[in-house]
Amino acid sequence: MADTKAIAQLGERILRQSAQAVHLNDIPAAKRLMDDMLHTLDVAGGVGLAAPQVYESVRMIIVASRPTARYPNAPEMPATIMINPEFTTLADTMEKDWEGCLSIPGIRALVPRYQRIAVSYTDQTGLPQQAQLQGFVARVFQHEIDHLEGLVYLDRVEHNRDIISESEFFKLPVT
Ligand code: ZN
Repeated sequence: MADTKAIAQLGERILRQSAQAVHLNDIPAAKRLMDDMLHTLDVAGGVGLAAPQVYESVRMIIVASRPTARYPNAPEMPATIMINPEFTTLADTMEKDWEGCLSIPGIRALVPRYQRIAVSYTDQTGLPQQAQLQGFVARVFQHEIDHLEGLVYLDRVEHNRDIISESEFFKLPVT
């Protein structure tokens, strides 16, 4: 039975630390953390989670795209655990769209992200994986990998006026 983990909130030191790489030998021992992260993300109803958000400073993220009110065309994908994730850009094009974060409740902001990226990571069985991501899924990936460097999405916001309260966000028309 997996535990629902507490989620670190903006201002807590762990969100500003660079996370440690996970060694291949340590993946079996990290199984419990993976299960707890999957469960915690499910309970929170989020689309992504990084290990530092549950007080584990290791390079592990979950990307879990699904259609939402804001992103009705977001692909439905099984929650994917990515260990030691990295990416390169496939195009210089960046696009601004809304993001939120379980560690920063109550607000949303427009964040520029690369539209198309190539990612590599180790999966939960220890196998190397590669994928090309675009749009919403690429955005979630870039948001989560930032958490491994001690960055949050507010660090990427271009103007303070691109930050709004969540209650106003929900009044916006879907474009
Ligand atoms: Zn976040």
